[in-house]
Amino acid sequence: MAADRLYLDHNATAPLRPEAAAAMRAALERVGNPSSVHAEGRAARAAVEAAREAVAALVGARPAAVTFTSGATEALNLALTPDLVLDDRPFHAARLLASAVEHLAVLDGHRFPSAAAERLPVDGDGRLDIAALEATLAAGPGPVLLALQSANNETGVIQPAAEAAARVHAAGGAVVVDAVQSAGRVPTDLAALGADFLVVSGHKLGAPAGVGALIRRSEGVRPAGAMIRGGGQERGGRSGTENLLGIVGFGAAAAAARAALAEEEPRLRTLRSRLEEGLRTVDPATVIFSAGADRLPNTTAFAVPGIKAETALIALDLDGLAVSSGSACSSGKVKASHVLDAMAIGPDLLHGMIRMSVGWSSTLAEVEQALAIWARVHARLKERAAA
Ligand code: PLP
Repeated sequence: MAADRLYLDHNATAPLRPEAAAAMRAALERVGNPSSVHAEGRAARAAVEAAREAVAALVGARPAAVTFTSGATEALNLALTPDLVLDDRPFHAARLLASAVEHLAVLDGHRFPSAAAERLPVDGDGRLDIAALEATLAAGPGPVLLALQSANNETGVIQPAAEAAARVHAAGGAVVVDAVQSAGRVPTDLAALGADFLVVSGHKLGAPAGVGALIRRSEGVRPAGAMIRGGGQERGGRSGTENLLGIVGFGAAAAAARAALAEEEPRLRTLRSRLEEGLRTVDPATVIFSAGADRLPNTTAFAVPGIKAETALIALDLDGLAVSSGSACSSGKVKASHVLDAMAIGPDLLHGMIRMSVGWSSTLAEVEQALAIWARVHARLKERAAA
């Protein structure tokens, strides 16, 4: 990244970790299809399996239950289907329940008929309303498949996944946890979350984009059929010659994230506290979304009444600070967030949401520089609004 740029947008994508870059550089020099029987092929296979172990270890899963995909979007599309296999027995979900604050990879990426997909409400902090889940389960029909994120990409709010999963399991259903934003940042354990399926993405934790995984509670838990069929790679779960470079980078990034987890969590929390203290000093009217809720330690979503996110993002970018407004949208446009909308945030703040997210590469000096830039931009925008 250019030396004069500051990057506080880890929730959109994290910079490549040096460990991932080194592993990928070494893999670039080698040839070998992991399915080939010769020495080159066997070496490639060994690299894929080592990465599988590292990714499994990050979330407390068994390596054989990890299916590599092209990213979290594909893994979610793969898992969010009515026909699954649970403990080696066919399972048919009558409905998909998803919280209203899920990523579009869930809300638009599932493979249920639209009439069988329901959105569950959240409270003012964006946490799933457990009473509404219970009422929906009681109203039938069942069994259901629940899709719930471990933590929200826009606000960082931690969802009550284990509590929700317990309700769904008691009603005979199954659970897919989108752990994209929490994996590698806070302890994210498949069993503790109550997940039958867990989804992770490489590029949020310092691997390249274009690699992710669908991780299952056991080998006997899987989608009933593959979405991408062909040569039968990934134990038939996802055909196509493996993305060796991406997978090797993913494994190295997962191992590095896991090794650093204990120090990283409090470090990120300190950076975020300083950031939020500074934002409130710049403008005491700053609203930090979900500030009172349990959140990821790296994420701040805020708004200042009277300041539009789109204008602020452009001004910050020109001054060298890369941040975003909610999720990275493929059109590059700033749209009002469906997450804040579900939290019943009023129109002024809804269109003003700015997200700053720190991560493994962030430092206190960067946070201080970002605050200095924000103070300048804020003063300019307020002046313009008053003129
Ligand atoms: N789920 C969440 C919570 C995300 O933040 C993202 C990425 O923005 C995705 C899913 C999709 O991940 P990928 O980019 O790997 O397809």
